[in-house]
Amino acid sequence: MGTGFNCTQCGKCCHDLRIPLSVDEALDWSARGNRVQILVEAWPLPDTGSSEDANSVHDMNRSFAGNSGTVRLRIFTTLVARHEGACPHLRADKRCGIYHDRPRICRIYPRECRPLAEMNPALKACPPEAWTSEEVPEILPMQSDTQQARAIAVAHRQASYANVPVLVRACARLEIVSAGFAGEGFAVYEPPAGQLADALCETGSSSRHDPVQHWSLLTNQRSTHDLLKSAGCSTRLVKQGADYIGTVADDCNFVTERTETL
Ligand code: SF4
Ligand code: SF4
Repeated sequence: MGTGFNCTQCGKCCHDLRIPLSVDEALDWSARGNRVQILVEAWPLPDTGSSEDANSVHDMNRSFAGNSGTVRLRIFTTLVARHEGACPHLRADKRCGIYHDRPRICRIYPRECRPLAEMNPALKACPPEAWTSEEVPEILPMQSDTQQARAIAVAHRQASYANVPVLVRACARLEIVSAGFAGEGFAVYEPPAGQLADALCETGSSSRHDPVQHWSLLTNQRSTHDLLKSAGCSTRLVKQGADYIGTVADDCNFVTERTETL
């Protein structure tokens, strides 16, 4: 299986995905009556990134600083369109019902948005027949939109950088104070549409909420929990559920600790 690509228009990418959104896209998605979640994760990273590493610069630009105990963190917040099963805008003929207004990530799927990231077919919804090791002629029709897809990915990254101050205020207003320990999972928040809109539309000058400084790190791994605790972090051991997405299976031993929920 290669990374040449020829969309079969199967519609699988319009099912069961969390689609990253900019603030403007999230407001639009929510105004259409759809679900928007906020995924939060945190890395213990310094405040300086290497200017030679595009992914480090990208991560620094799309995150903000915080603390957990005495440990300095970078907090990553991602607005996502959430639908279980088919996207509410997927038509019976497998075409997009909001084609001209669809989110940027829908426009570039299955391409990656991160700088330097390579497409991994194993992580994509596309069927095997969509991938080809032949670079030509199958992907020739895609060549014309490659530049366009790249420009869309850049625009999405720029929006994610510009949106950071908005998301800092939104976390404060929505009392979002927990983050998944990055690499293992995400804290999931799904505020009511009205509260989300108020939080995302709040301007800097109208904000009466101080940025969240102290974060609790969530993990579903007992060993990680114990390590974070010994490092002086505020941490909680949690299980997979509506409020926590683990990227690895639960490894929680709650025999000596009360089961906690977010
Ligand atoms: S908005 Fe359109 S392209 Fe995006 S997931 Fe929904 S149906 Fe698919
Ligand atoms: S899952 Fe892949 S092949 Fe199927 S419609 Fe989406 S982009 Fe095309």
